[in-house]
Amino acid sequence: MEYKLFIDGQWVDSGHRLEVTNKYSQEVFAAVPAAGQEEVDKAIAAAQRAASVMADMPAYRRSEILARTAALITERKRDLAETIAIEAGKALKFALIEVDRAISTFTLAAEEARRVHGETIPLDAVPAGEGYFGFWLRRPVGVIAAVSPFNFPLNLVAHKVAPAIAAGNAVVLKPASTTPITAVKLCEILESAGLPAGAINLVVGPGSTVGEWLVTDPRVDKITFTGSPPVGEHILSVAGIKKVTLELGNTSPVIIAPDADLDLVAKKCAVGAYYNSGQVCISVQRIYSEKGISDPFTEKFVLASEAMVVGDPLDERVDVGPMIDPGEVDRIEGWVEEAVDGGAQVLTGGKRDEAIYWPTVLTNVEPEMKVVDQEAFAPVASVIPYDDFEGALELADASDYGLQAAVFTRDIQRVFKAIKRLNFGGVMINETPAYRADHMPYGGNRQSGLGREGVRFAVEEMTNIQMVAIKLDG
Ligand code: NDP
Repeated sequence: MEYKLFIDGQWVDSGHRLEVTNKYSQEVFAAVPAAGQEEVDKAIAAAQRAASVMADMPAYRRSEILARTAALITERKRDLAETIAIEAGKALKFALIEVDRAISTFTLAAEEARRVHGETIPLDAVPAGEGYFGFWLRRPVGVIAAVSPFNFPLNLVAHKVAPAIAAGNAVVLKPASTTPITAVKLCEILESAGLPAGAINLVVGPGSTVGEWLVTDPRVDKITFTGSPPVGEHILSVAGIKKVTLELGNTSPVIIAPDADLDLVAKKCAVGAYYNSGQVCISVQRIYSEKGISDPFTEKFVLASEAMVVGDPLDERVDVGPMIDPGEVDRIEGWVEEAVDGGAQVLTGGKRDEAIYWPTVLTNVEPEMKVVDQEAFAPVASVIPYDDFEGALELADASDYGLQAAVFTRDIQRVFKAIKRLNFGGVMINETPAYRADHMPYGGNRQSGLGREGVRFAVEEMTNIQMVAIKLDG
């Protein structure tokens, strides 16, 4: 199937072709034009024109477009989920959940569009304000460049596009080159939902060219990026003076206290570590279990890992499909080999079949091993026994990253110690770090990024505050 780029309300070709593969069969199943500099230029120019249309659009109309988008996604749920399963290799059961979440994201944005507002300021709180009336407003920033990763081709695009529209902006979207077809389908839906020409533009192509042209263009007012830490850091260094939101990586820790329900935790950790083959920024990676319960927990976790059904993502029974490309399997195989050379033990998994890597449990790992210290982004988790809870908090927090962390305990004292000690954007209690509801503030501290998503919070990032001071006797 051949698709097109979407620029200024038109479906257009570019003369260049980017093939998209089925990540399970490795066969080409679709193609989309790769944008050149001309297409990126036209997309930004169209977004600039549409930005004023969007800024003038009443809130109830933006809300209606977002609600219609949610309804149209619902109508195309199966098609979108299958597209995600094929182009991203995500098991269909989780792809269906991703579509449901995108419906929530657009529904939440439809509600949020109606409450973008500021507040009055009592300027006379200081002598300089006597005789003045003050208030501030939220104004749309204008043109937003949205750059998205491969691992949630629908909902992470939704987390950028939906709040951008809610806030009255125009968008140029560059999806990951490995998974652009879901984004094409979302643009079809936004067009049908009545979004004005130029308010959403789709440019596909390599990050090193198309992405770079987009994020360095001075006509872009804000960049919202989700992806790897090195690319995020690079974008920040070349962006110039623009607002930038970065949603980057993590090496998500879980601490299990001795009072936790180990059967439940083992099952939750297996899903949190392996869904989407561990290619989730909040995937369970480092599991710290108290020494006294570590053996029984590990046994249960290994069993839960082995219960994961591995195979064709389109098969509804499957939990774990292929990784995004066989090169990523080479990488994680190398990391696991390096850990084993350093004394780690593979308790289950550690094997591959082309692009599939089996759910893998490691133990006897060291803090400096890549599987512990760097973002694994693969179905690999390590169980690390600890002596005391405070020490476990220290180990969990000893990371360059700070997106989400988790603690399983029924002890309120431990809960509050964890909240205070963990320098993470999110602390989950009796849930894994892989938990996310689409309206909660979501984003990382330290190297995990800048700013927050989650619709209301993204709307804040996608607006500028404008202050108005009125001299009353002027
Ligand atoms: P990448 O950083 O490789 O790519 C992300 C996007 O950036 C792609 O669209 C890519 O294009 C583009 N890009 C690459 N280089 C540039 C550039 N120089 N200028 C502008 N854009 C560029 O990430 P992945 O797609 O591999 O995603 C995995 C990463 O995303 C992981 O590190 C993961 O933790 C993180 N992530 C973070 C989340 C969060 O919310 N914190 C959620 C999900 C993932 P192209 O595809 O063409 O290379």
